[in-house]
Amino acid sequence: MYVCGPTVYDYIHIGNARAFVVADVVRRYLEYKGLRVKLVSNITDIDDKMINRAKETGLTVQELGEIYSDAYFQDIAKLNIKKPDVVPRATQHIPEIIEAIETLVEKGYAYASDGDVYFDVTKFEEYGKLSGNKAEALRMGARIEVNPKKRNPADFALWKGWKPGEPGWHSPWGKGRPGWHIECSTMAQKYLGETLDIHMGGKDLIFPHHENEIAQAEAATGKTFVRYWLHNEWLTVEGEKMSKSLGNFITVRDALKMCSSAVLRFFLVSAHYRSPLDFNKEALEASEKNLERLLRALERLNGLPERDSLTSDDHKLLLEVEEGRRKFEEAMDDDFNTPLAISALFSIAKSINNYADANETIGSTSKQKVSKIFADLLDVLGIRRGKEERDTGRSELVEDLIRILIDVRNEMRKRKEWEIADEIRGKLKNIGVVLEDTPRGTKWRLNKLSA
Ligand SMILES: [Zn+2]
Repeated sequence: MYVCGPTVYDYIHIGNARAFVVADVVRRYLEYKGLRVKLVSNITDIDDKMINRAKETGLTVQELGEIYSDAYFQDIAKLNIKKPDVVPRATQHIPEIIEAIETLVEKGYAYASDGDVYFDVTKFEEYGKLSGNKAEALRMGARIEVNPKKRNPADFALWKGWKPGEPGWHSPWGKGRPGWHIECSTMAQKYLGETLDIHMGGKDLIFPHHENEIAQAEAATGKTFVRYWLHNEWLTVEGEKMSKSLGNFITVRDALKMCSSAVLRFFLVSAHYRSPLDFNKEALEASEKNLERLLRALERLNGLPERDSLTSDDHKLLLEVEEGRRKFEEAMDDDFNTPLAISALFSIAKSINNYADANETIGSTSKQKVSKIFADLLDVLGIRRGKEERDTGRSELVEDLIRILIDVRNEMRKRKEWEIADEIRGKLKNIGVVLEDTPRGTKWRLNKLSA
């Protein structure tokens, strides 16, 4: 599987997160079914956005890339997205990319032009087969820009000649950098072979990005590049497309100030991946309530004391839960229909609640079986059990521990043990916890913890 990863010039937003969560659910479900999955997802660490942002911030492109790829790994971990097996970076695959471009030039699909190299879309017969018909694809391509270096308006850059102030690598066409599209098809094929089973990404990537990936890969090999393309629909914010100019651009970090990571994840899987999904307060609240309902049922089940014997209620519960599992799998087998799969989880939760209403104990074997089935299915959707941290760095446990330290320090001050009191304060400060003594008691705050 290949999933187009982030361009690391900023924090990922919730639209990016949707694509990564959707891919993670596909991966988890395939693994649940016993398949072995190798997931490759790239990091784009050189392109126009990177260069512009580096100039704005005064960082080098490399520094910028390091900061935001670290942030990306932190964000996907919070969303319980399994780390891809390979995370190739464009800047670490320049020789492979140059080689791929050379092949296309040799085969007559690409041409050098004044330091750049372009793919000639008229040479690839099937250009446009993913996004629509050929004429339409060419028209879409032509809208982009007028560039006298190109033979046809829809031709796209494989290599971009160097400009002062930009990073550059030596190539047969002079110093320059790779285009975005060639990065993905080259790295995908390096780690997954000439034909991939599944390629995923947001719908916005169909044209031109994925159309161009197909052209590059298939022109070079003559083989099918991807067996299954899966594209997720848009994520809107209160009915509008997310954009910086509208001011409704929500990063994962912003979203985690509004809800826990478990709720955000559950919200992102609550719609079918090919349906639009709207981010709004009501939807988040509904997700929170629904998630609680599921987790509470699991808690109730696990809290029932066990007995050895099985009753007719135990048998009924097991049958119902197995039926729920069957419905869950049926839904997921049908193009990963997560909302239908979630409704199967609710039916399991209902059976558990009915059982717990009528029984004070549970047969130990049925408890184990039901608990395992339910937990496995929750895991397919990446739902973690237990309390989640919000993105303030202030989990309940941390709050409680700091409160205890503050109480100890205040006790020391009462006893005039100033040295110990100051030491506690100093050591907390070293880890970014700042104490302030106010007339209403000691308060604390985090001092720029970049977690
Ligand atoms: Zn890509």
